Amino acid sequence: MFSTAASASLLEASRVAHGLTQAELSAASGVAQGVISKLESGNLTPDPARMSALAKALGVPVSLIDGTTMSAPHARVFHRKQASLPAKASHKLHADMVLAHVRLSRLLRDDDLGSSIPHLPLPENGLYTPSDRAREVRKMWGLPPGPVPSIVDLLESHGVPCLMWDVSSARVDAIASWPDDATPVILLSSRAPGDRLRFTVAHELGHAVMHAVPCADCERQADEFASEFLMPRKDIKDALVGATLPRLAALKPIWGTSIAALARRARDVGAINDSQYRSLNIELSQSGYRKNEPVHVNPELPGFVERAIAKRLAKGETISQLADDALISVDELQRQYLEVV
Ligand SMILES: [Zn+2]
Repeated sequence: MFSTAASASLLEASRVAHGLTQAELSAASGVAQGVISKLESGNLTPDPARMSALAKALGVPVSLIDGTTMSAPHARVFHRKQASLPAKASHKLHADMVLAHVRLSRLLRDDDLGSSIPHLPLPENGLYTPSDRAREVRKMWGLPPGPVPSIVDLLESHGVPCLMWDVSSARVDAIASWPDDATPVILLSSRAPGDRLRFTVAHELGHAVMHAVPCADCERQADEFASEFLMPRKDIKDALVGATLPRLAALKPIWGTSIAALARRARDVGAINDSQYRSLNIELSQSGYRKNEPVHVNPELPGFVERAIAKRLAKGETISQLADDALISVDELQRQYLEVV
């Protein structure tokens, strides 16, 4: 079906994902900048000649951007920021996400999609906390007490594909998108250390479980959810009593969370008091561990998308047929969806 609105959002996403301004795309395609601007705002109906010039300049199939094939999904999008994210980087991440949705919905169409992430909003009466929700989800999913071996595997087994992504900003560890009517997806920064990635994925799961729209307290709630999900109070508290830096460093590979997250957890579960927590933080800063923590936790590698592609190849489709189907070049398909960045 033809849609001016679908074309508008996918044209813009394709341009931004390729790192081009409207002026640069205009120069590369010969289509006037004013026309591109109108097309991207949905104020001009796409026509075949211009769309094919734009597609050629962007190196994408025309059916990706002319609104005939796909529309961009309406999704709840969250990303955990380490610090404030420049608008340009944020724009690029959202564009990447829109395109990832389009590609995945086509690459995974044979699979039994439909994720099984429970939606458990927090009632306003305050009777349920984010920690309660984390315990509920652990129980629903039948997790035994103790550390979660792989949170990426866990989410993928509940229908949430994850992709290692060359996230353009070092300030974002992951971006997650939860559409109402399409497969969710989480892009994981290939630059983030494994312990931080695990916490971020658990944090994103917290958003998916508890939140419909961003809110003032949402970030804190998602952090609390992640802490309880990865480090349940009843399982970890004893090990954290009187925590010292060497002890936390020894716990890091067991729980797969950073020393900083373990120190916070120790305070939050009452295993150390505020002044002990302050001393730990001073030690962390003085030893340079705040920027660069010792004890390496390997990043967890996703496999959902790769397995789905392998299944289609095994059935006799070729990689170039798959790329055509996903409206992507063979090179980009291999780089972004098949190789670990
Ligand atoms: Zn968040």
